Amino acid sequence: MALEAQQAPVREGRTEWADALSRDALQLIAEGVTEMVGFQVATISVVKEHGLRSVAIAGSEAARAQLMDAVTPIEVIHQDLAVADDWGRFKFVPAERAPADTTEWGWVPELAPSDDPHSWQALDLLVAPLHNSSDEIVGLLSIDLPVNGRRPDTDQRTLLERYAAQAERAVLVALEREALSEQIRLATAAREIVRNASVQLHVDDLLAQCGQALTSGFRAGGSWVQTFDEEVSGSGALHSAQGADIWLPEGLIEMAEVAARQLWALQQSVVLEREPTSLGVLTQEQYDEITAFMERIGADYLLFVPLGAGSTCVGNLVLTRVEGQPAWTSTEADAALDIGHDLGRAILNARTFAHEHRLVAELTALDVYKGKLIATVSHELKNPLTAIIGHLEMLDAAPELSAASRGSVSAIGRGAQRLQRVIDDLLLLSKVGDPDHPIIPTPVHLQPIVEDVRDLTDISASRGGVRVDLDLPREPMVADGDAEEIDCLLTNLISNAVKYSPADTSVSLSVRRDGAEVVITCRDQGIGISPADQEQLFSEFFRSADPAARAQPGTGLGLAIVARIVERHHGSISVASALGQGSTFTVRLPAAA
Ligand code: ADP
Repeated sequence: MALEAQQAPVREGRTEWADALSRDALQLIAEGVTEMVGFQVATISVVKEHGLRSVAIAGSEAARAQLMDAVTPIEVIHQDLAVADDWGRFKFVPAERAPADTTEWGWVPELAPSDDPHSWQALDLLVAPLHNSSDEIVGLLSIDLPVNGRRPDTDQRTLLERYAAQAERAVLVALEREALSEQIRLATAAREIVRNASVQLHVDDLLAQCGQALTSGFRAGGSWVQTFDEEVSGSGALHSAQGADIWLPEGLIEMAEVAARQLWALQQSVVLEREPTSLGVLTQEQYDEITAFMERIGADYLLFVPLGAGSTCVGNLVLTRVEGQPAWTSTEADAALDIGHDLGRAILNARTFAHEHRLVAELTALDVYKGKLIATVSHELKNPLTAIIGHLEMLDAAPELSAASRGSVSAIGRGAQRLQRVIDDLLLLSKVGDPDHPIIPTPVHLQPIVEDVRDLTDISASRGGVRVDLDLPREPMVADGDAEEIDCLLTNLISNAVKYSPADTSVSLSVRRDGAEVVITCRDQGIGISPADQEQLFSEFFRSADPAARAQPGTGLGLAIVARIVERHHGSISVASALGQGSTFTVRLPAAA
């Protein structure tokens, strides 16, 4: 009989563990037994989760179909072995001694019973348990149905002995290969997790997310990630696979930081054992401190990996293996160094993200503060200034004023007017820059506004010898927005165009519809704007250094106000200009439905 279950109770589909190479090697050995020693059926099985699973079968198709991937509980084997004759590696249980429940698990061939003590019986069992170096059963070579119909003689047994030894080696190699490929698979999975860790993670969250994956991915007893520089994060605790935190002595943390920096420069990870073979970058005292700690936490092996990106070392990763776990292999150490790169990059990204986050928050706070300051100061200035201007007008009207005093009053008046313009602009800027007071859009007819603005700028235009042309379509152009702000936007664009244009030129303003937008274009033949100035045109207080522009009065706030109004309307503004050839400003605003 062959010791495998016909209807395996723990059958779980095909064995996945054995890769093609291992399977082929085991199959060859099984076939060798059938051909060279003369048996019709030979099966090799391996221990998998407390059962023996057949992975290579030589013999008839019928036997293969029945036995492949079948599982036998390991206790059944021990039960059989207890009553077996010891033939060296092979153990023989003659049919007469077969345990009562044997047929439940065995595959029993159809054989006529015989009285001859040398004849093979249907219930005869011949198996060779395969052991690992700790003498545990890791597999079984089981054979059945001798071709000559007889129980094996001494010659055959010697031959069988050799095949059993071969099968044992092959099974051990296959198991090792399986363990290794499993490790690589898990390490790759851990790596994927690190790689996919979102950029928008805080360092602590990142470490929490990756630490666990690394522990299971590397089959470690525990893991420790320490980051240094900006903020020392995650230092001091070793997270064990069981979830407990073990606190590290201060000395070790410092030592780890120094070692990480050295190792990152060398691009090396290091395996530490409780019985050191070499000290590497460490002194004897340091080694003693580490091994004492390893002893305390029951770790036999430590894999120390520096974390970094480029030339910067940002931290270290420590993975431990406890008693009973295997030592770190060089493949694992290499894979861990790769992860050191990925994790290092992820930590830097997380830091950059946090840094940017802080900066944005600071800038926003600063902007709010600036807005408030401008609004408050402008308000405080506006009232006294209004009083000054009012009194100046009264003075100007007084008939008793001397000619000299009148000159002074008019100079004060010009200064006051200029101050008022600045204050009005500042107040407007803070109003249109206030996100807490968005516009409430209504349909705004553009033609009348454009004509009003042209009329208002007409005096200064004709004084400068500039002609303002309008190009307005017949059908109404209606924007969706705030009439007052659109008026302000147009006033700024046209007055700039007039202001920065020499005599005998023209400014043209056109409005047209383009899909869901209305497009306002203001074109002049003025002094033009250099490419460098165009970059800063819409910043507050920007005034060109060009003497031709400087010759005109201005606050540098007009276009900043325009840009904010456009933004509040969810529109866009662009400029095309060349020095000495004029400028064209194009504003797009959403059209009213
Ligand atoms: P200002 O009060 O100085 O006119 P603006 O914000 O309106 O402030 O404009 C900023 C700067 O942009 C001006 O100082 C000027 O150098 C340049 N500029 C604006 N409009 C024009 C234009 N149409 N032609 C040439 N330069 C212009």
